This record gives sequence, structure tokens and C-alpha cells, in this order.
Amino acid sequence: MLNDVERILFHEQTILSRLDELAREITEAYRGKELTVVAVLNGSLIFAADLLRRIPLPLKLDCLSVASYHGGTESSGAVTFKQLHTPDVDGRHVLVIDDILDSGRTLHAICARLRKEARPASVRVCVLLRKRIARAEELEADFVGFDIGQEFVIGYGLDYQEEYRNLPFVGVLKQEVFASG
Ligand code: 5GP
Ligand code: MG
Ligand code: MG
Repeated sequence: MLNDVERILFHEQTILSRLDELAREITEAYRGKELTVVAVLNGSLIFAADLLRRIPLPLKLDCLSVASYHGGTESSGAVTFKQLHTPDVDGRHVLVIDDILDSGRTLHAICARLRKEARPASVRVCVLLRKRIARAEELEADFVGFDIGQEFVIGYGLDYQEEYRNLPFVGVLKQEVFASG
């Protein structure tokens, strides 16, 4: 598994130090507010687990499961919700947590769904990674861990064909892994 990694972008300790800062920002933003965190599975599982344990506020946690890549490295454009359940967030301040903001389609679809099917007091977005590209959908992340380039990254929750999520760091896959996959 480690042999498949071309280079490490963010070591575990770098990520955790950044999460300390991010958690402080989020804590100040939501102090005294009714907060519901909606974690987008599977990609944000590790990030959300580490981040939320650094936020000393009362909050509720819900999860949504979506797919937009269908296994490849290019976004398919279509966002599929894997369940019908929409978190009950009426009157609550919602923070949607995802692994990475790429085209913006996934988070745009999630925020739209939350606003359509419930009446949240606010909806904001937190991502570990943000790619520097033109987004297909108008979407701004409110809390961002790191900005990265266009490369396809894995680890710390991010997968390639459902593998590599358990790597403790964020890295770039070797080209030959895509070629053989
Ligand atoms: P978007 O809808 O913003 O184009 O894509 C968001 C989703 O695509 C992310 O939640 C993530 O699951 C997947 N994705 C986008 N870029 C990458 C990447 O570089 N690596 C991995 N592993 N997944 C990515
Ligand atoms: Mg995702
Ligand atoms: Mg994926």
C-alpha cells in the first residue's frame, strides 16, 4: 500500500496541527448556537472524527452517504444519494463536513437538499482539502484545511477505488496504479 504512494503532501502531524486551528475557528463561529454537523461519508470519516473531538461545544452529528466518482478519478458529474433519509435540521445551524472540494457538485447537491427538505438556520461547509480549479457549481467552503493543486490525492479518508482510506497521511498515488486499475 505504501509502495503505491508517489509522494506525501501532508503528514499526519501536519494535518492534526491544522485541525487544532480549524477546530478553534469553528468553535468560535458556533459558540452559543444550536449546531448539527453533517458528515459526508465515506471520505470525511477520519477527518470528521479527528476534527469533532477538538470542538468542545454541544452538537449533534448526522451522516450522509453520497457517491459522485463511482470508482474512477474523474467526477462523473452526477451526485447519487445512497439513502433517502435527510437529517432533521429545522432551526439548526448546519456544518457540512467533507473530505475535498473539487468541482463543487457534491457539496452543492448536499446543501441544496438540506435547504429544500428542511429549514436550517444556516448551512456552512468545512473541507479538509480544496482544489484550486474552476468549480462547476457555485460553492464556497467556509472552513478549509489545505489548498492543493489538481492532482488526485488519497489517504486520511480519501480513496482510490475504496482503498487507501486508512493511510494516516494525504498523498499522491503513483501513475502506474491508475494505469493498472
Ligand atoms: P466534487 O463533487 O467537488 O467534484 O467532488 C467531490 C468528491 O469527489 C469528494 O468528496 C471526493 O469523494 C471525490 N474527489 C475529488 N477529488 C478527489 C481526489 O483528489 N482524491 C480522491 N480520493 N477523491 C476525490
Ligand atoms: Mg466524497
Ligand atoms: Mg471516493
